[in-house]
Amino acid sequence: MSRVFNFSAGPATLPLPVLEEVQAALLDHEGTGMSVMEISHRSDTFIEIAEQAEADLRSLLKISDEYGVLFLQGGATLQFSMVPLNLLDDRHSADYVNTGSWSQKAIKEAENFAEINVVASANNCIPKVQDWKLGKNSAYLHICSNETIGGVQFSEYPEVEAPLVADMSSDILSRPIDVNKFGVIYAGAQKNFGPAGLAVVIIRKELLGKARPETPSMLNYTLHKNADSMLNTPPVFAWYISGLVFKWLKQEGGLEEIGKRNVRKAKKLYDLIDSSDFYKSGVKLEDRSMMNVTFTLLNQKLERDFLKTAQEYGLFNLKGHRSVGGIRASIYNAMSEKAIDALVGYMVDFERENA
Ligand code: PMP
Repeated sequence: MSRVFNFSAGPATLPLPVLEEVQAALLDHEGTGMSVMEISHRSDTFIEIAEQAEADLRSLLKISDEYGVLFLQGGATLQFSMVPLNLLDDRHSADYVNTGSWSQKAIKEAENFAEINVVASANNCIPKVQDWKLGKNSAYLHICSNETIGGVQFSEYPEVEAPLVADMSSDILSRPIDVNKFGVIYAGAQKNFGPAGLAVVIIRKELLGKARPETPSMLNYTLHKNADSMLNTPPVFAWYISGLVFKWLKQEGGLEEIGKRNVRKAKKLYDLIDSSDFYKSGVKLEDRSMMNVTFTLLNQKLERDFLKTAQEYGLFNLKGHRSVGGIRASIYNAMSEKAIDALVGYMVDFERENA
């Protein structure tokens, strides 16, 4: 077996012990003689898997009983519509902060349902909260906590009156956060905690029950909550693997430890970038992402070579998003420090040979 260091932005690398556990149980899950993919979502075996996953997620993020946790399909993208459909209530407008591509996609979808007030815009930094132009009667304020494409991340969250809604697709579970600051947190699984096909929604219970009357059942948070996220057949395998990742995160020391590790990992890369005249970060220092390290080569003609030679070092999927180009190292929870050291070593070698 030869696994490479996979810096993909998502679907992204998963912890090896989790993959090994999945492999070992693939044909026969705990003596049932069946794979998790083959058992009923209503069976005691799966209900136990689902409940344990929720309990572990709650314990990792210290989610109180004031919040419901949903495991849904449709990725984070469906949340761009579900949020306004469920939270607008009798209001007509919502506030959005635009910090890059994913904020813009969320805004575009929400515009189908409401008047969207963009309170501030930037794409290489987080605009200062004191400059935000908040609406007077907005149902909620939406942020993207980590822009996966630009590599821009909120280091702290704003205190606002309206419920704060965060797309945490690319930084959920990467550090401790205070869930109580949020009305809704949502995230697709395929970066920090599982395979694609699943999204987690954490919602303050007092925000339930406000969906517009025309909201389809499958888009209604309250109906999902009342059905324990089993309004229809859920993505059982993705849910199961996510549960294993939650267990792995707890074994690794929980979010305090993971957070420290993630800062250490990102710092190694940014330190190298900042100390060189060969690589360059386009993101303001204090708003740089700990998850998606984006940078360019000063001589952009060398980028193709950089990506190609990287593969000889076992370093894959470092190409920046097609909309912005450059290089992007996505270094989510499951990315080891060994992989970071390999990347740093390669970057030093490449600079030495090409500067
Ligand atoms: N939000 C962010 C911040 C993302 O990075 C992504 C996926 N790259 C999405 C939303 C969309 O997620 P999905 O593909 O699960 O719909």
